[in-house]
Amino acid sequence: MSEKPFWQQIQPGGIGVNPGSTARVQTGDWRTEVPVVDFERCTHCMICWVDCPDASFNVADKKLISVDLNHCKGCGICAQVCPVKCIEMVPDSAADREDTTTENGAG
Ligand code: SF4
Ligand code: SF4
Repeated sequence: MSEKPFWQQIQPGGIGVNPGSTARVQTGDWRTEVPVVDFERCTHCMICWVDCPDASFNVADKKLISVDLNHCKGCGICAQVCPVKCIEMVPDSAADREDTTTENGAG
């Protein structure tokens, strides 16, 4: 069994050094699941928007319009907090992005 290194011995990975730079960097490409929103049932309460740790919901005219898959990490918090349970987490490869989500947040 190999010895694990101390944290001081681990090489640094990606580091965001400029304020606000994460908006310009795709950070969602390592997720395994994506949220699929049933917009027929969505009440636009915005609880998912508030609780998403990666600000990955796009909003227009006070309505939820899409998921920003460039930044969504697939954590599933949105699906847990949605009061009407209209968000389903599905395997990234199986997501029907034409219907419910966009890759670039264009809505
Ligand atoms: S899965 Fe996580 S990161 Fe993606 S939209 Fe939901 S709360 Fe945000
Ligand atoms: S929490 Fe659910 S009902 Fe509320 S805006 Fe998000 S998807 Fe829609």
